[in-house]
Amino acid sequence: MSKKWYELALEAPIGTRHVLGISGGKDSAALAVYIKDHYPQIADQMEYFFTDTGAELQEVYDTLDKLEAYLDKPINRLSSTRDFDHWLTMHDNMLPSVKARWCTRVLKLKPFEDFVGDDPVISYVGIRADEDREGYISHKSTIKAVFPFSQDGIIREDVFRILEDSVGIPEYYKWRSRSGCFFCFFQRQDEWLGLKKRHPDLFQKALEMEQNVSQRKFDWGTSKRLESGKGYTWHQSGTLEEIVIKAEEKEKEKKGCKSSKKTKAKWQDILKDEMDDDPEDQACLICSL
Ligand code: SF4
Repeated sequence: MSKKWYELALEAPIGTRHVLGISGGKDSAALAVYIKDHYPQIADQMEYFFTDTGAELQEVYDTLDKLEAYLDKPINRLSSTRDFDHWLTMHDNMLPSVKARWCTRVLKLKPFEDFVGDDPVISYVGIRADEDREGYISHKSTIKAVFPFSQDGIIREDVFRILEDSVGIPEYYKWRSRSGCFFCFFQRQDEWLGLKKRHPDLFQKALEMEQNVSQRKFDWGTSKRLESGKGYTWHQSGTLEEIVIKAEEKEKEKKGCKSSKKTKAKWQDILKDEMDDDPEDQACLICSL
C-alpha cells in the first residue's frame, strides 16, 4: 500500500524542504489552515509562497495578510522581477490564452522553480477528494508533490467550513470563481462584468491592453496570428466591450426571473451551492487552486 502523505512528510530526509504554494484561492488557503490545525509538526517546517504576477486583485493581498496572521508565518512573495507589460512585449504582444499560456510559465512556474532551486522538496497541493484534476506541478525530479486533501477525503464543503472557521472566504468569490490575474482569460463573461463593476480601473486597463494589440488577427483554433480572422481579444467570444454587454443582458434576464422569489441568502451560502470550478482550469493549478 502506498504511503500516506503525512508519512512521506514526516519521514522525509533532513534537508528536505516543505513548500505550500498559496494561490489566493480557497483550496490552497484551506490546505495551509488544515495542515497547521491538524499536522502542526509538518506546519512548523512549512515554507509558504505566493507568486505575485503584479496583476493581482487587492482582495488576494487581503487574503494573504489574514493567512499570515493565522499561520503565524510569512508567506514568501515571489515574482518574475519584470512586470506583465515586459513579458507581453517579449511575447510579440501576443495576449496569453488557454492555448498559448506563456503567462503561467514565466509569471508563476519559473519563479517557483527558482525559489526551490535543486533542493529536495515536498510540495503540498490542495487538490480535493471530490475532484479529478491534474495539472502542471513541476517536471523537476527533486520535487515530490503530495495531495493531503485528496488522501484525507476533504471535499469542497469541508474547504468552505475550514475557511469560515479561520480566515474567512476570500472576498472576490462574491463575483469571481477563481484567484489569479485581474485580466485572466479563464474568466467567464459575468466575471468580466464583475471586474468592471468592482474594479473599473483594472477593467479599463485590460480593455486598453486588448485595444493595443487588437490590430493583430488571431486564430483561436490554432493559436496562430493571421492576416484575417477573428480579432485578437482576451475572450474568444469577442472584445471585452462586447463581452460585458452580453453579460449585462444575461444579468437583466436573470434578475427578471428571480424578482418573484427574492432570497436573502448570504453570498457565502449561495457560493457553496454553485457549480465547482470550471474544468477548463485543470492545468492552471498554480494560479487558482
Ligand atoms: S491567472 Fe490567468 S492570466 Fe494569470 S498567470 Fe494564471 S493563467 Fe495566466
